[in-house]
Amino acid sequence: MGEFDLIARYFTRPPRHATLGVGDDCALLSLQSGMQLAVSSDMLVEGRHFLSTTPAAGLGHKALAVNLSDLAACGAKPLAFTLALALPSIDEPWLAGFSKGLWDLADAHGCELIGGDTTQGPLNICITVLGEVPPGDALLRQHAQVGDDIYISGTVGDARLALEVFKGAVSLEAAHFEAARLRMDRPTPRVELGLALRGVANAAIDISDGLLGDLGHILQRSKVGAVIETAWVQDSAAISDAMQSVAFNKRLDFALAGGDDYELLFTASPDQADEVLEAGERCGVSITCIGRITPVAGVQVLDLQGLPLSRRFASFEHFAH
Ligand code: ADP
Ligand code: MG
Repeated sequence: MGEFDLIARYFTRPPRHATLGVGDDCALLSLQSGMQLAVSSDMLVEGRHFLSTTPAAGLGHKALAVNLSDLAACGAKPLAFTLALALPSIDEPWLAGFSKGLWDLADAHGCELIGGDTTQGPLNICITVLGEVPPGDALLRQHAQVGDDIYISGTVGDARLALEVFKGAVSLEAAHFEAARLRMDRPTPRVELGLALRGVANAAIDISDGLLGDLGHILQRSKVGAVIETAWVQDSAAISDAMQSVAFNKRLDFALAGGDDYELLFTASPDQADEVLEAGERCGVSITCIGRITPVAGVQVLDLQGLPLSRRFASFEHFAH
């Protein structure tokens, strides 16, 4: 099988909304008049973003999920994506699994594959997603206001917990490990929630590198600070049963700096508290308030007594070590 048969078999379907899909030098999309195009790319590299043992279908899912998560963080509706793929060899069972994981998630969000590039090389998956958002409606990092509440969706820390089990640093009972591993391999992009938060949230970001690090991007862009409580790490909807089963200090590390959560972190005025909770209910995802925006630069993490914690939490950063 050659490159073009591979593309035809695994990555080509008749276009749905696109005017022209895979097969020509460019794809063509007809945009709704007046809408803004939201564009984002994310690359997954073996050994860096996933283990060589990761099942192919999970990888297809995750490669698209992390991209859809960026659209979600902007409140953009997914339209289409491109796939640039470097493969060490043509491994058909792998391609069948990978494309199944990819198509299943793409179909769930009505997001179509319109083109890409395929080459031989160390396994590397780069997706670019295209979405649409009405002008002025995109959720941005730069609009957090002093006094805003800070919220997260879903649960945090599980992917990091699973990674620590893989590394042999933590042990978990089988059911908890399975649940945590699913969160690592099959993150859920919060696309519907992102759309529901248009006009409700002031600022948003998706949690990919770790809660505090990603919050830091909002603070920097908005020129504000934050106080983060930790009572919710002890017991709240944001802490899964698997996370509940490890010691509080580890939980604190994984929840605040774990990374790979792909939940939304956003800020909203206290006036919008009802709308925020309603958006979560409508989208079937829990929402937890974890702190508030302050005028003082930096993040202060409070312990269970409400006193400032002096320990540091390091988020994931490429080239940092
Ligand atoms: P060119 O080199 O002329 O840009 P290619 O030969 O790389 O085109 O690709 C042929 C067609 O297949 C193009 O339409 C391209 O967008 C599409 N394509 C290539 N690789 C992929 C892929 N992994 N997934 C989806 N479409 C792809
Ligand atoms: Mg090409």
